[in-house]
Amino acid sequence: MANVSFTNVRKSFGDFTALESLDLEIHDGEFVALLGPSGCGKSTTLRMLAGLEFPTSGDISIGGRVVNDLAPGKRDIAMVFQSYALYPHMTVGENIAYPLKKRGLKKPERDEAVRRAAELLQLEPLLNRKPKQLSGGQQQRVALGRALVREPRVFLLDEPLSNLDAKLRSYMRAELIELHRRLGKTMVYVTHDQLEAMTMADRIVVMHGGRVQQFDTPDAVYNRPANRFVAGFIGTPPMNQIEGTVQGATFVVNSHRQPIKREAFAASLVDGPAVMGVRPEFVGIHDSGDGLPATVRLAENTGHETIVTLELPDGARIMSRVEAGRKLSVGQPVILRFDPAGIHLFEATENGARL
Ligand code: ATP
Repeated sequence: MANVSFTNVRKSFGDFTALESLDLEIHDGEFVALLGPSGCGKSTTLRMLAGLEFPTSGDISIGGRVVNDLAPGKRDIAMVFQSYALYPHMTVGENIAYPLKKRGLKKPERDEAVRRAAELLQLEPLLNRKPKQLSGGQQQRVALGRALVREPRVFLLDEPLSNLDAKLRSYMRAELIELHRRLGKTMVYVTHDQLEAMTMADRIVVMHGGRVQQFDTPDAVYNRPANRFVAGFIGTPPMNQIEGTVQGATFVVNSHRQPIKREAFAASLVDGPAVMGVRPEFVGIHDSGDGLPATVRLAENTGHETIVTLELPDGARIMSRVEAGRKLSVGQPVILRFDPAGIHLFEATENGARL
């Protein structure tokens, strides 16, 4: 079993606390993405799991065994870095075989392990090349191959796709999903790219300011964000957050009374100031009728949809996602109506827990 747990882990660098009270339970065989903006603590979390940093307090365990004091080489993990860190003077085959050579395996065994990894990653024709004779995607696969031959219990990946161009990234995303499916190994993957996290991970740890904001499936972080940070971080464009007041079964904003399904929200929902979250796909744009008056500021046709920026009379901006080719001109007055099925309510506090 290669489940991974962080129990009440704190990490400080001098006076600065990079991670506060981190609790995570990652299941055996799970693909978990650590996602968050720069500086949120995701690399520090991964580096502690790898044994490259040590927790200030708390416990980290792999397969039920506390590894706090275990050297990186003894943790049965393999890490793939953003930079790939291939040895330039060695061939592809030698790079992949290197961890096994260090472990003292004989040449026939090494060759067999390299052959299997090369087959899995389709690197067979490249085994005699040097890293500089490879494309970024091929180098990436060599780095993965070097991790694979070690047959670790847990794979740690630190932004492994960030040096690749958009097309190769999307190809490698599919490759990694397939690799995880075939190997069934626990994988912990650091990224600041929500698309990578959403498309690859079984569950996502959304981090911000050294704290876990939500740890859940891609579906849940998108459709049931735990707080305003998650709502504003996940989705392109992200969820709109509109300030107003809850009054009975309505949310009042600029004297528009938006019906809400009050029974759909937690009992803690009370009348008073709140923030309504609504994803752009639930913001309907109409010419007339009941709704929130707004002005079109920008309409961007991406080919398969139109992303519209709208402005309310108080200057607040709202994004809408409508069908491609919808005719809207800048300055045009419109009426917005929100689909009650897509409405979220958050506390009107800085962090805004979900109500
Ligand atoms: P990025 O996406 O930019 O890599 P991150 O989420 O991975 O960001 P970390 O590298 O984990 O963030 O860093 C978390 C915080 O800890 C940051 O504020 C960073 O400046 C700080 N930090 C990291 N390593 C050290 C260190 N060795 N000494 C002091 N502060 C550090």
